[in-house]
Amino acid sequence: MSEKRTELGDLGEFGLIKHLTEKFSNKQASTSFGIGDDAAVISISEEDAMLISTDMLVEGVHFNLMYMPLKHLGYKAVAVNISDICAMNGVAEQITVSIAVSNRFPVEALEELYEGIRSACEVYNVDLVGGDTTSSFSGLMISVTATGRAKKESITYRSGAKEFDLLVASGDLGGAYLGLQILEREKQVFQANPNIQPDLDGNDYIIERQLKPEARQDIIQFLKDLDVVPTSMIDISDGLASEIMHICTSSKVGCHVYDEKIPIDGKTSMAALEFNMDPATCALNGGEDYELLFTISQDDFDKIKGNPNMTVIGHITAEDDGRYFVDKNGSAIELQAQGWDHFNG
Ligand code: ADP
Ligand code: MG
Repeated sequence: MSEKRTELGDLGEFGLIKHLTEKFSNKQASTSFGIGDDAAVISISEEDAMLISTDMLVEGVHFNLMYMPLKHLGYKAVAVNISDICAMNGVAEQITVSIAVSNRFPVEALEELYEGIRSACEVYNVDLVGGDTTSSFSGLMISVTATGRAKKESITYRSGAKEFDLLVASGDLGGAYLGLQILEREKQVFQANPNIQPDLDGNDYIIERQLKPEARQDIIQFLKDLDVVPTSMIDISDGLASEIMHICTSSKVGCHVYDEKIPIDGKTSMAALEFNMDPATCALNGGEDYELLFTISQDDFDKIKGNPNMTVIGHITAEDDGRYFVDKNGSAIELQAQGWDHFNG
């Protein structure tokens, strides 16, 4: 190692991944796609591929045990990995779970965690097939790896969006971010005066969006039933803006996204109002909604038209046309990705 010291924040999360991995090249013929999408793609037969994705959750960075029940944490750790398998248009089959845990936690706490993991295994129909257990000096870390399966011809990469395609989002957005704001606010109230009970009334929906996100495996099934193979897909783990940018960069295209089209639940809008925030900004720059963002050919529009689970939020343009967010007054503003950046957050 040289004397030179570069701060992690100088590279950012994506810059760091690129920097650390750019000297690697794939040697195995079966490695169809390695780093750079929601999951790696491994060829297992003429028609089929195995998908692999891994995600780590760290106490104090990704969750706060003051308001995150361990059961929910276990569920979420699985769901966010299943979400990455969904983002490739695949179906998850197995998971492994690794934990690093300090002696601050009794066995009962870990039983709770595994209750949540088991519940997610039931809901998503996956098998827990291994993992690793080790100690940690401070806090809890949980890393889940999910494997899945897909037909090679229907795998959706971030790179497949084409000019004139429609940009579609599943479900509704911004809720998880506002749920977190409510939890943070009530935590501060509680810390200031432990006798005051948290006021979470009326915010169940957005709090659940934060504490118990669901992977949209149902959307993958809907798309299959409708005979629609998206041209590209990604899951919305950071803000919508950052995920749109990933698709545009990988696909070498531009886009127009319309403020008034972004699907936002009434409960989310009300909470945004309470915090003096614009709901669309919460959708664009918040995170953890775990919905799917995908592009479809215009020829497929009739198949998804009127489907309450999917909303067309914009369209794909040529790369030179740029990436724009069109606000309610019709003004086009250049899209900025302000998703979570773990090193500068
Ligand atoms: P996602 O948000 O979908 O989980 P990430 O942004 O975490 O994806 O990762 C982007 C890509 O970089 C993925 O292909 C992931 O597997 C890969 N990656 C992330 N961290 C590392 C690492 N430390 N070493 C090698 N590959 C990594
Ligand atoms: Mg992802």
